[in-house]
Amino acid sequence: MRNLFQISNQREIEKMKSDFHKKIWLAFLVGTVIALAFGLLFAPKSGKDLREQVKKICKNYRNKVDSELYVGNVNSDVFHLSSCVHLPNSDNRIVYRNRDEAIASGKNPCHSCNP
Ligand SMILES: [Zn+2]
Repeated sequence: MRNLFQISNQREIEKMKSDFHKKIWLAFLVGTVIALAFGLLFAPKSGKDLREQVKKICKNYRNKVDSELYVGNVNSDVFHLSSCVHLPNSDNRIVYRNRDEAIASGKNPCHSCNP
């Protein structure tokens, strides 16, 4: 069996170089085709779809934030979940970002919504 050092025939060396270059180009072409396929699969959505998706994400985030807010009454020592039916008038509301903040302010959980 011959190794690379035993190849003295210039034509055979040129053929090996040519084959090597062909393989490089083939790898480049295959890579390009794969990249194009992925580009088409994961292309950005159209403006309308993107706006709908952003709107949906914002709505979900807003719902999440709303559900995690705690609302106290400035005239009493009670605080509620923002979804409670016993929320004080909007003029008398004080909003807490979390339950601990409401408790630290001296507020007690509403017996109805049990925040
Ligand atoms: Zn309540």
